[in-house]
Amino acid sequence: MEKVIIFDTTLRDGEQSPGASLNTKQKLEIAHQLSALGVDVFEAGFPASSPGDFEAVSLIAKKVKGPIICGLARALRKDIDICFNAIKHSKKRRIHTFLATSPIHMKYKLKLTPNEVLRRAVDAVKYAKSKTFDVEFSPEDAARSESDFLCRVVEAVIDAGATTVNIPDTVGYSIPSEFGELIARLFARVPNINKAVISVHCHNDLGLAVANSLAAVMNGARQVECTINGLGERAGNASLEEIVMCLRTRKKFFNLSTGIKTTEISKTSKLVSSLTGMIIQPNKAIVGNNAFAHEAGIHQHGVLARSSTYEIMTPQSIGLKASSLVLGKHSGRHAFEKKLRELGIRLTPGEFEKAFKDFKTLADKKKDIYDEDIESIIEDELSQSGEKRMYELENIFISSGTGMKPVARIKLKKGNKSFSAEASGDGPVDSSYKAVDKIISQKFKLIDYSVKSISIGKDAVGEAMIRLNYKGKTFFGRGTSTDVIEASVKAYLSAINKVLRK
Ligand SMILES: [Zn+2]
Repeated sequence: MEKVIIFDTTLRDGEQSPGASLNTKQKLEIAHQLSALGVDVFEAGFPASSPGDFEAVSLIAKKVKGPIICGLARALRKDIDICFNAIKHSKKRRIHTFLATSPIHMKYKLKLTPNEVLRRAVDAVKYAKSKTFDVEFSPEDAARSESDFLCRVVEAVIDAGATTVNIPDTVGYSIPSEFGELIARLFARVPNINKAVISVHCHNDLGLAVANSLAAVMNGARQVECTINGLGERAGNASLEEIVMCLRTRKKFFNLSTGIKTTEISKTSKLVSSLTGMIIQPNKAIVGNNAFAHEAGIHQHGVLARSSTYEIMTPQSIGLKASSLVLGKHSGRHAFEKKLRELGIRLTPGEFEKAFKDFKTLADKKKDIYDEDIESIIEDELSQSGEKRMYELENIFISSGTGMKPVARIKLKKGNKSFSAEASGDGPVDSSYKAVDKIISQKFKLIDYSVKSISIGKDAVGEAMIRLNYKGKTFFGRGTSTDVIEASVKAYLSAINKVLRK
């Protein structure tokens, strides 16, 4: 069976989702998980875009084994140099360079004639090829490019040494039959097309990213660029889990396979969601909370009698397990360490000590500790480690009740200094946020706030996720605690600390 190459761009295009920025340690954790998931290639970042991106890509190239590590570069020699310096530590490496080919982009953005674009594209591919064998080229906005010109560019970059040519629907404008025809036309008209892998990169502005990608695959594309949970610029990219499960569930129809270990899908999706703060809608295909929930009685009856009555794929196939009871108050260091290994979590000794301390604190408050609780402790650790902590919550006191004005008294710590404030607001959360604002003497605009429980039971750990706006930029914060007010304050502080670091 022929294989479709799965190219993940969660760490590059996905990280461009508004408010989804990740620190280096979080990127590395996601990169390790993408490797466990079995992606063939992943784009670790855009090294020339910032020193932080460069650092993350080179760390990933040093540490992550398995997939091809790819870096993005504009069609400029200096970008390609920086990109190569970041990925060179990996034995399996790829330079992905791009230049727009649509009339609107060439005229208004690049201010170049088509011939100049063609020359620059060829020059960039040749230059990248002089650095490393595996070179991908993308004619940006290909879906809106003029057909003859696109064919010329594709032919020229393959001649120049591109091993993969990626056809993006950059603005998510295409319709499946039309996009499929575009790919078919390239195969019919570009004489050397079989010397490269044809790839697609579809955006979801009209909700068609997955459909367009599959239409391309049916017409000969053999690499799909996608992201976990469909993250990405604006409405996002084609979602990896949907592409992969489509090909798997309808294997007879497509007659194609992927190298993805589908039982890692659920875990990868959760990790990406909690580290980026991009919450998954409950009815999202494959990884939404309701994706395998059968509500109607007649459906439940059918599924119990024989699961295939209403289930086209099983929850086990994406790695969903019933929440399992793991540890408690008396579990020691050994049991905790073993559990981390089972969950595939890697920590440095210092991080382990902190995580173990947090685990013990949690075990004092909560009788049963589930996998999800452990994962949340680790995610807290990951979002804070490697960065100097700024404001931390020392303690909080709330008085609130029916018919009375809520009051919050808060004590924060920064280094070895303590700060206190008291405030009153519309409810306990509002009051505590106002108290925090007083201490920091800044005003932040809260644009999103949600609380949910991580595991089961009335004593479950609550996870608060917030987004705030500061000078036009969005910052995400996450906090957990058995007390939802405390979780909310931690989430607020985690977002504020990101603002202050900038
Ligand atoms: Zn994109």
